Amino acid sequence: MNWDEPTETAAGPLQGGTDERDRLVGPDADGEDTAVEAALRPKDLAEFVGQERVREQLDLVLRAARARGATADHVLLSGAPGLGKTTLSMIIAAEMGAPIRITSGPAIQHAGDLAAILSSLQEGEVLFLDEIHRMSRPAEEMLYMAMEDFRVDVIVGKGPGATAIPLELPPFTLVGATTRAGLLPPPLRDRFGFTAHMEFYAPGELERVIHRSAGLLDVHIEADGAAEIAGRSRGTPRIANRLLRRVRDYAQVKADGVVTRETAAQALDVYEVDVRGLDRLDRAVLTALLKLFGGGPVGLSTLAVAVGEERETVEEVAEPFLVREGLLARTPRGRIATPAAWAHLGLTPPHQQAGGAGQQGLFGA
Ligand code: ADP
Repeated sequence: MNWDEPTETAAGPLQGGTDERDRLVGPDADGEDTAVEAALRPKDLAEFVGQERVREQLDLVLRAARARGATADHVLLSGAPGLGKTTLSMIIAAEMGAPIRITSGPAIQHAGDLAAILSSLQEGEVLFLDEIHRMSRPAEEMLYMAMEDFRVDVIVGKGPGATAIPLELPPFTLVGATTRAGLLPPPLRDRFGFTAHMEFYAPGELERVIHRSAGLLDVHIEADGAAEIAGRSRGTPRIANRLLRRVRDYAQVKADGVVTRETAAQALDVYEVDVRGLDRLDRAVLTALLKLFGGGPVGLSTLAVAVGEERETVEEVAEPFLVREGLLARTPRGRIATPAAWAHLGLTPPHQQAGGAGQQGLFGA
């Protein structure tokens, strides 16, 4: 059998069309998150959990600026969605006693859009530019000059009659956020005085995030209840907060509102988020890879057909976390499952089964 040919066999097909935003374990904010997150955001550096190195460095940058009575250097924050970039930008403004303006790369398609924002900033204001890697080229070039010289050239008119009118800006702090630091052009990266990379959170740190949020949401949670949620939160505070809300609902209806390990586990089983944070889509991909294709290698298209999803969904929505967790590997010959994947789903690899011959040589028989 050629594993790269589409197959009609399906392993627990999903409805198809899974969207990152529909997922309980998706890292991007949905409407409910946006409404609740404002209440859960730490307000100062001391309250911000984890990211010790970033916090320490940022604390120095901000203290030094305050001592000089100056505006803080421009800050670039990189890292996956939901790790606290927006929160940190707000903390920077709060620690500097400055107002904050929030916008994003995709919202600034013309240099004029950026000029309008920059020219209306107050002295010392923090400008948070989310998804800075998605800004248009002309806007990006305008930003270079604004960051370096606090000045922009506004072009008036078109063609040979166009004139550049220089416009002085008040000193401000740009906080740029990106999920893809590698995509930023070096001239832009170089103009940030301080760059921080945010890491995924350790389970213990997520437990602290969960306890803190539970306190703010008035949820009675036991220590091992928080640990259970933390283990399923994919290293991401936004997901931890979201799972906490679902567990709270369950606990209210089924367990007098108290979140114990058992309640948390039962609730998250109902929502199909397993002990490592895999959801239905992730498990469908792994199950197909193991059960239908003996652990691979199998082509992406074939795998996608087997789970009834688009190629892009499998590649962009399911795989990154499976790869990060060391459950799946992308190889030139196709996708392969690691020994950890077999163990996680409680299955035995073919070469370990009595008389089994498959998979020889993939991981060493
Ligand atoms: P990003 O901008 O990186 O997508 P956010 O700053 O919007 O992430 O954070 C998402 C949510 O997670 C926020 O509501 C915030 O309450 C919570 N959060 C993120 N980082 C932390 C942290 N270090 N400590 C406590 N809560 C956090």
